[in-house]
Amino acid sequence: MSAQILDGKAVAAEIREKVAAQVAALKSGHGLTPGLAVVLVGEDPASQVYVRNKKRQTVEAGMNSFEHVLDAGTGQDELLALIDRLNNDPAVHGILVQLPLPGQLDEDLVINAINPAKDVDGFHLENVGRLSTGQDSLVPCTPAGCRILARRALGDLTGKEAVIVGRSNIVGKPLAQLLLADNCTVTIAHSRTRNLADVCRRADILVAAVGRAELVRGDWVKPGACVIDVGINRIDAGNGKTRLIGDVAFDEAKEVAGSITPVPGGVGPMTIALLLANTLTAACAANGLPAPTLS
Ligand code: NDP
Repeated sequence: MSAQILDGKAVAAEIREKVAAQVAALKSGHGLTPGLAVVLVGEDPASQVYVRNKKRQTVEAGMNSFEHVLDAGTGQDELLALIDRLNNDPAVHGILVQLPLPGQLDEDLVINAINPAKDVDGFHLENVGRLSTGQDSLVPCTPAGCRILARRALGDLTGKEAVIVGRSNIVGKPLAQLLLADNCTVTIAHSRTRNLADVCRRADILVAAVGRAELVRGDWVKPGACVIDVGINRIDAGNGKTRLIGDVAFDEAKEVAGSITPVPGGVGPMTIALLLANTLTAACAANGLPAPTLS
């Protein structure tokens, strides 16, 4: 039997609509327009595409978008001075520094210079600590998107076995915290995990966040499992073109899984939608208003 396809594009559009409605209410009720500042250093083509998409969707949601494009050779002090200005600008509620940064810049130092209340990526140590101790925090966008898709597929996640392949600070680890908070039994696998296929076969929720095209095969999937594919891999499609595929062998896995996210059109669109949601949350918090409910 073929799995239910988890349409991240549709769920993301739903979230963006809710965000836009609440932004309109904030504007008319409180004269408040949430603002997102995006900082891009250098000319990485993939980053330029992400930043363009973020800007378009921010404006479509009715928010202010402030874009800061800096030269690839920008020094640490110059970048930190910009972050300081944004931290102190009341029109800016969210600050996102597009990663990766050029080699001369210290990513940890830069991320931790952002005011945690404006850290809409949820990467600041204070937000990481709050998430892992079960306190309210700004939550990293991609893991938040994965959790929403898993909840849409399975409802209450209590007691589910979750296996996350990948232990990065931006996906694997924060997602483990979120699923733990939803009462899953969580395993984080990585490149040193033994018998990875066997570990994956235990999962009711199997998340692949690796960056290796089609690493997860159909026979690694427990029948009926919810499979969330975070991976984005650009491969040669022949005739001089490329295409995107995930970390899961989709055609095999969809015959075994109960539900599965496609690539593209699964987790990817959720990330920007959750970024807008975080910006709205940060704007509400900065003005003493209750957090919006969006999912
Ligand atoms: P990282 O490279 O930071 O982490 C990859 C993880 O995969 C590491 O923990 C690594 O293990 C593990 N790994 C690598 N090879 C294997 C293997 N053969 N078996 C088991 N585990 C392995 O990647 P990210 O977390 O940043 O991203 C992962 C993927 O998700 C990428 O394709 C990226 O493009 C995509 N992505 C998509 C987003 C979206 O919006 N949809 C957002 C962010 C990322 P170890 O720690 O041992 O090295």
